[in-house]
Amino acid sequence: MKYTPEDEILIEEKWQELQDECRKAKVCKREDDWLFVKRAFLLAKEAHKGVRRRSGEPYIIHPIEVAIIAVREIGLGKKSVVAALLHDVVEDTEYTVEDISRIFTPKIASMVDGLTKMAGVYKNDTTEQAEYFRKVLLTLSDDVRVIIIKIADRLHNMRTLGAMPRNKQIKITSETIYLFVPLAYRLGLHAIKTELEDLCMKYRFPEEYEEIRRKIDATKTEREEYIARFIAPIREVLDRNKFQYEISARVKSIYSIWNKMRRKEIPFEEVYDLFAIRIVFKALPFPSEKTQCWQIYSCVTDIYTPKPDRLRDWISIPKSNGYEALHSTVMGPEGTWVEVQVRTERMNDIAERGFAAHWKYKHASITQEEDGLDRWLKRVRDALNSPAENALEFLDNFKLSLYKSDIVVFTPKGEPQSLPYGASVLDFAYEIHTKIGDHAIGAKINHRIMPVTTLLNSGDQVEVITAENAHPKAEWLDAVITSKARQAIQDHLKREREDNINYGMELLRTRLEEHNVLLSGRVLRKLMPAYECRNKDELYSKIGAGIISLDNLDKLLKENSSRKILKFWKLLIPGMEGEAQSDDVDDIDFEDDSATLDDTLPDVSRSDAPEFVMAECCEPIPGDNVVGYRDPKSGVIVVHKSTCDTLIRLAAQSGENIVKEEIKWSQQKAVSYLATVELSGVDRPGVLLDLTRLITTDFSINMRAMNIHSHDGIFEGTISLYVQDIVSLNALLDNIRHIKGVDRVKRLLNT
Ligand code: MN
Repeated sequence: MKYTPEDEILIEEKWQELQDECRKAKVCKREDDWLFVKRAFLLAKEAHKGVRRRSGEPYIIHPIEVAIIAVREIGLGKKSVVAALLHDVVEDTEYTVEDISRIFTPKIASMVDGLTKMAGVYKNDTTEQAEYFRKVLLTLSDDVRVIIIKIADRLHNMRTLGAMPRNKQIKITSETIYLFVPLAYRLGLHAIKTELEDLCMKYRFPEEYEEIRRKIDATKTEREEYIARFIAPIREVLDRNKFQYEISARVKSIYSIWNKMRRKEIPFEEVYDLFAIRIVFKALPFPSEKTQCWQIYSCVTDIYTPKPDRLRDWISIPKSNGYEALHSTVMGPEGTWVEVQVRTERMNDIAERGFAAHWKYKHASITQEEDGLDRWLKRVRDALNSPAENALEFLDNFKLSLYKSDIVVFTPKGEPQSLPYGASVLDFAYEIHTKIGDHAIGAKINHRIMPVTTLLNSGDQVEVITAENAHPKAEWLDAVITSKARQAIQDHLKREREDNINYGMELLRTRLEEHNVLLSGRVLRKLMPAYECRNKDELYSKIGAGIISLDNLDKLLKENSSRKILKFWKLLIPGMEGEAQSDDVDDIDFEDDSATLDDTLPDVSRSDAPEFVMAECCEPIPGDNVVGYRDPKSGVIVVHKSTCDTLIRLAAQSGENIVKEEIKWSQQKAVSYLATVELSGVDRPGVLLDLTRLITTDFSINMRAMNIHSHDGIFEGTISLYVQDIVSLNALLDNIRHIKGVDRVKRLLNT
């Protein structure tokens, strides 16, 4: 498809826009720099010639937009603009990385290489997508700018997501929620993070998105009048004190309003901190920026009373993504809480544009100390360099690290060591040296002896105690959060386990031979249930480790196997064990077994329809917004709620399994779904009776389990029910709410 004259005009206009942005940001200082950028534009334009995006636009518009985001919204420089313009050239056209290296520089070529997506088609392999992410993240260790351009690329793709089919939208938004939003947060790209979240919501929950947007618009005039009244006295006092400042008002993002509504289960009208005002001022050389921020805080709180528990000082200790500001919430006119943020121009630049601005100011200052962002990057590099065998596991660990802040602890000599929040003695020990971690048996924390699993607090002084014969244990995995420690422990356990399996197999073989029995599948099937092992490796390794002694082998081999199989199944189904009941009087628990199997089964309208099952993680019921995910092994379609964390993770890691068709709830069939309800209230005689009568008699709903505890005159607990859809569930909840004594009742959302 040749470009039309209109296309050419569009391209020329976009290119002009990029040049304007570069000029404004002073990206190109010399004439050579301009030629460099222009050469990149011409090459990209030539390479993508005649190609269009799904939206119909000439393809070259996309790299130009990404370059514009890099300059205007992130504040990156010339090399990044060039790399952004070329970011899809190697992936989609004939040009190679070597060509880029020849025409530009090896540095640009390596950036473009990092930006080049993984080639080839996706197979039905979940680890493949995770490998792709790993590759994305690997670029972090070469050059952080590459990952920032990747985020800019993602932002533009999200802005133009409307042209994509629904299953692609789910895949792309899942990846965005799973990885790009946390990365943008971690790199301090606040504005981009917020926009990405809003865009994800817009495509996943279009109705809810529109409704909140409409409500924000509807209250606009009212809000602006209020803010004007709120700000007037602040301006007066700041003017009097000769501050140079600007005040802006910001409404919370649609996504964060929605999130708060869901989290607190409140309507839009009750989200009280709907808006915030921001005071950005030009700091004088003296006194310190910090002092000046507190002076402004003091001016504001002379007028409005602050809410004591809502003061956030991110100046004394900046957030680990570099964010600095002073936040407080004050009582404005008419009893409305208003958040007030105070920042200097420098802090504001960092808050808006994140990483790039952060580095700019950092290099300008004399101090070269590591800060939170540096330390995090260093840890990411460590994690990436360690040979994580399982990409999925690596990714989950990495993702967890994105939102964590840091603590600082000290060695016995007083040297500071920073660790992620939630780190234990073991994390600290492994951070110092693998050998120290492997042989740790305890620690002196502030001169007191504590176990290795103890969590550390900022300021602790820690001395690890080791013993030559101590070794890592499997339980340690629950006590560590750094990938370095986790990896070292896993490596050790794996070696140990392999040794044990081999040793255990030999041991068993020898002992069987003593009884003239050959080690065979039949014998193993007999022994595994007897020793409560689920597979032969477990059996061997337990024998090898001495957990299973083979003293009674003789007896076992002779015994009839039927009893042991029963024992085996008992192990797998804990409910059959008949566990001791708790001594709570009000604790009743019953099961309606007839309902458990058939009624939870899928909603299938035609006999040739694919098999559906409801996901256990989020228990969707008719009326919920759902997405289908085809289990690659069984081919069964698992139906998840759109909000389900597990779904987001699956879709991000292997989005090709998202079912293309939208799943509709069928109306005809009366099928039941499991839903869990949580409730609490003031205890009185008969309240449980009223409750069960309402559910089983009035509503004819089957209960699967009920678990209510009563203490100090308060009862609380959960009820699992089989309901037909969300309408009947909501009707039931409304009625339960009216039972005397019931205070709160809601559907338990597993996500
Ligand atoms: Mn792209």
